[in-house]
Amino acid sequence: MSRHPVSEVTTHHTMLPTTATASTPPPPPAEPPGEPHAALFLALGYMRLPELLACWRVCRLLGEAVAGDPLLWRRLAVEPPLSGRVTDQVLLKLTARAEGTLRSLRLFGCLHVSDAGLLRVVEHNPRVTEIYVPGCKGLTGDGVVNIVQLLHEHKGNISRLRLDGISRMSKHHLDIIMSLMCKGNPQGQQDGIPLFYNHRAREALNTNDERPIDVDVCSVCANIRLVFDCTRDDCRKVRDSLWRCRGCYFCFPRCEKCGGCISPEDLVEADLACSDLMCLDCWLTVPKCSTCNRPYCERHENLMVSLSMAGQFSCQRCKELDASQEDQEDDY
Ligand SMILES: [Zn+2]
Ligand SMILES: [Zn+2]
Ligand SMILES: [Zn+2]
Ligand SMILES: [Zn+2]
Ligand SMILES: [Zn+2]
Repeated sequence: MSRHPVSEVTTHHTMLPTTATASTPPPPPAEPPGEPHAALFLALGYMRLPELLACWRVCRLLGEAVAGDPLLWRRLAVEPPLSGRVTDQVLLKLTARAEGTLRSLRLFGCLHVSDAGLLRVVEHNPRVTEIYVPGCKGLTGDGVVNIVQLLHEHKGNISRLRLDGISRMSKHHLDIIMSLMCKGNPQGQQDGIPLFYNHRAREALNTNDERPIDVDVCSVCANIRLVFDCTRDDCRKVRDSLWRCRGCYFCFPRCEKCGGCISPEDLVEADLACSDLMCLDCWLTVPKCSTCNRPYCERHENLMVSLSMAGQFSCQRCKELDASQEDQEDDY
């Protein structure tokens, strides 16, 4: 039984004073040196996992506040660089802090988490509503089906799964998961909600779209991946005709700037200074390296090397070439 019979939304800022004072007397006006400031207890509710773990180790009082409050652990997100250190055992320990009330579990690229480990976490937390496991290659389609089936049997309310990049996932798995998750809507709730390409869509921890499942069957390669709709109006109009560019990134390369498809003819010229791609329309509008004439996408703008001429820049490769030529000249 939770000690905080208030809703999840409102508790994060009200619970900690209660926690901190329930077992200990109110702090004296002048705190003895070495004790954590009361504001730190208040801040715990806003901390991400790495900060929480750091506070846990800082001192006994803070450690007790962190470890003893299930509400702090209802939403668990593991991101790099912590991901590589999270094994089944570590995950069980972390999620046990929620005392069965885990609502949201987000594991980004946790390679050491297995189907069996995740299943045990879900067995202890049947009220979990979202599970994000993008890039967790230790998980498989079979494992996710087992988890969704278990939650279905327990009348759970899982509403969001993010599965891009897990292993051995087939259309068969996807169909079972969909039918269990979208009970009232046998067609699947995905229909009609387009997914446009941008890098955030690939970094699934950041996506907050309402679709129950992120992945779909690519109609070209038949793999289970993120399947993007096109942002080009003319492409979307012909969506239902024979030629359509709805598909995974590998079948339909997408522009980093507008999310539109890039035709095979344009692909040769869509070369950027970073390893991304840009459609010709966008390519024409952005500033380019003054030596090789290749632009950077927005995500990699920080790689531009400004030149003394205002507004001009060099790409990393041209700058390195330039530097090595200067070295050679020095040798003469
Ligand atoms: Zn494909
Ligand atoms: Zn574009
Ligand atoms: Zn298109
Ligand atoms: Zn260049
Ligand atoms: Zn880029």
